[in-house]
Amino acid sequence: MSEFETTWPDGVRAAASFTFDVDAESCALAYDPALAGRMSVMSHQSYGPRVAVPRILDILDDHGVKATFFVPGFTAETYPDTTRAIAERGHEIAHHGYLHENMLGMGEADELAVIDRGLAVLRDVAGVVPTGYRAPWWEMNWHTPKLLADRGFRYDSSLLDGDRPYRFATGPGSADLVEIPVDWALDDWEQYAFFPGWTGSGVIESPAKALEMWHHEATAHHRWGGCFVLTNHPFLSGRPGRAAALDELIGRVAALDGMWVTTLAEIAEQAWSTCAATFTHTRPAMPTPTTAPAGTTPHTSTIGEDTP
Ligand SMILES: [Zn+2]
Repeated sequence: MSEFETTWPDGVRAAASFTFDVDAESCALAYDPALAGRMSVMSHQSYGPRVAVPRILDILDDHGVKATFFVPGFTAETYPDTTRAIAERGHEIAHHGYLHENMLGMGEADELAVIDRGLAVLRDVAGVVPTGYRAPWWEMNWHTPKLLADRGFRYDSSLLDGDRPYRFATGPGSADLVEIPVDWALDDWEQYAFFPGWTGSGVIESPAKALEMWHHEATAHHRWGGCFVLTNHPFLSGRPGRAAALDELIGRVAALDGMWVTTLAEIAEQAWSTCAATFTHTRPAMPTPTTAPAGTTPHTSTIGEDTP
């Protein structure tokens, strides 16, 4: 364990958090506004807040588990009752953009406007001031952490460089943030997402396979004292067969000895109080191009043509 990482409370061996990105229509509309004209695509997305979230809330209650729900502003405006129900049932609501905008390459002022719009909606709809942020599509700009720190966020959960929460610097004059890292292998999109002409691999995996894979990851995190963070989308993982597998997984993870199952906000506060040092990310500097000495014949790669 490095000095940047959190130490778990006494009696805790590892942590786990079940997180739900309530993207609903927003991620489709951000990807391609023309998808608004596809009634069936929109219904695929609205299944999340309309049908799946109530089922997921009941499953979480059955286990006595509190979870973190990342709610884009557009989702909160479109489904205010669902959004309020999440908060009223004792779960954490966190920030996930306004229209699930892909921030990659966006300038600071524009990105801050999106963050502020999302904050305003969560405040107006659910009376929530979120402490956590997850970038839509997990796409962070190098300047994003500073914007979050300056708006008072306590943690981010969009980066992929750790097994355990750590504290990191956001820039001169700005507060630190805690990062609670994620993992593509722990995202239900890669297992289940499929809609013709929009997204998905064309393969819809079996919930039994996802359960096996995620349970294996949870036991490995438990072994090494890590932080298991599962990212689910209600319109995917709230369908009956998948919800049943999720129910089974939550039970198995919660039963691991010394496994602390809680919200990302609680995990972040543990990190804030125990990380001994502050990590600094470094943007790679591109090296100068390699050029052949004058008078030599350039080599032509054949990789992909005749290699086994
Ligand atoms: Zn999302």
